[in-house]
Amino acid sequence: MRRLFKALGRGGRPLRIGYGRIFHEACADSPVLTTEADFRRMHHLEGAKLAEAASLRGTELKSFFPHAELTGFVAAARAAGKVEAVPLASSLAIPGGPVTRECFEWLILGLVRRLEEAGPLDGVYLALHGSMQVVGLDEAPEAVILRRVREVVGPLVKLVASFDLHGNITPAIVRELELLVAYRSNPHWDLAPTGFRAGNRLIRCLREQVRPVKAWRKLPVLLGGGTTLHMIAPMRRVFSRMRAMERDPRVLATSLFMVHPFTASTELGWSVHVATDGDSALAEKLADELAELAWEASRTPIPELLGIDAAIARAKVSPWRKLGPVTFVDTDDTVGAGAPGGSTQIVRALVEGSHSLRALIPVHDPELYAALVTVPLGTTVEVVLRGTPGYAQPPVKLCGVVAAKAESEFGKRVRLEVGGLEVAISAEAPLPIHPRYWRELGVSPRDYDVIVQKNLFHYRIFYAAISFEHLPVMTRGATSLRGVVERARSIPMRPREPLEDWRAGDRHLRG
Ligand SMILES: [Zn+2]
Repeated sequence: MRRLFKALGRGGRPLRIGYGRIFHEACADSPVLTTEADFRRMHHLEGAKLAEAASLRGTELKSFFPHAELTGFVAAARAAGKVEAVPLASSLAIPGGPVTRECFEWLILGLVRRLEEAGPLDGVYLALHGSMQVVGLDEAPEAVILRRVREVVGPLVKLVASFDLHGNITPAIVRELELLVAYRSNPHWDLAPTGFRAGNRLIRCLREQVRPVKAWRKLPVLLGGGTTLHMIAPMRRVFSRMRAMERDPRVLATSLFMVHPFTASTELGWSVHVATDGDSALAEKLADELAELAWEASRTPIPELLGIDAAIARAKVSPWRKLGPVTFVDTDDTVGAGAPGGSTQIVRALVEGSHSLRALIPVHDPELYAALVTVPLGTTVEVVLRGTPGYAQPPVKLCGVVAAKAESEFGKRVRLEVGGLEVAISAEAPLPIHPRYWRELGVSPRDYDVIVQKNLFHYRIFYAAISFEHLPVMTRGATSLRGVVERARSIPMRPREPLEDWRAGDRHLRG
């Protein structure tokens, strides 16, 4: 790496590279569409404010990652020397239902306007997710974003993008890009290093120190790979092979995408992507090798999911409970994957069951939130919890005390104390990945037996010293893994079909 830094910044006028982000992960079955307000509430920065946030002193993604892709990119530009990093616009909303047409147009126009104002650019770097979905749009929204950017900057400006490793990569996306890179960690902690890698490659490419050629494969796989965590078998082998490949100076970037399976895209599937420095045969060979490795790893089924009653029974006898709460991961209502978070099923089971478990449970119910937010603290109320409107959840009668209210970047919520259960009734989809979600409501997660999470992995970064047992719980909601397997597809896909070879699927999916 040090050798590469030295090579950058030689001679010539400074490079000018624009940078920005449009980032969203969609869930086709959520009844809650994603709008401009969702981006504005979570993360929307432009121009000088973006530059400030993407500096090492700034905070790029408040409460989640002080330094993410764009900070990494700016650091790469600084390390290279003689590069002017030009802030465009950056927008991110938490995963949710498909993005509305109006919102998508607003996102693109914001980026396009900044590009037009930016003056001449040599390159553009974008941090994208890869699993967006827009109402009524039947192609990958990221392909549309890249095309619209291309229309503004013209054919000579080089485009590089980074993606979440749950992106669904399509031919139109690959075509527009000089190069692409994906996160290397699941859960994702390497946002800033990913932006750095993207920036470093783009700058070397603009200085003609490298000439990227690409190869990729798409696998007929929707689910598999065990936990899909990068540091655990079977995926560990694939990720370590990718790192080994990149130690060869001819290899610029290797990426693996284990797709987010909850969009309505007709061309879903895992993929691998390799970029080498001018060596097309090597890129093809490595792409085949990675495809084969990923295909093998995808044979391992995803972890067994428990029914709610089985999870409660496990929590009752769990030895880990002495050290901290057992986590129930509500896999069918994963806000981290775009579900609305308004499932009432775990609350119902805990209220009706006989046990002495103390639990923290977030539930999206905007109507109940509106009714409770005006009630004085300490008041005992009898209410019916219905969850997200339009989500067809069983209503649950609750008698409890309005114990706390909070409003922050984690959203607006009221804590209802129901015996040993603390139900956070929220106005927006709850994403309590950080313990502060509960601390702001006056309770400490450590004091409870069970904590319900609405995302699969990311919370583990913040709960690493708090919760030591994680049980995937099956309910019935917008991110049902059973639903993914059962849905009809245009070609045979793993794990529904017992395929032996990926090549026919690859040919179909890459068109
Ligand atoms: Zn992801």
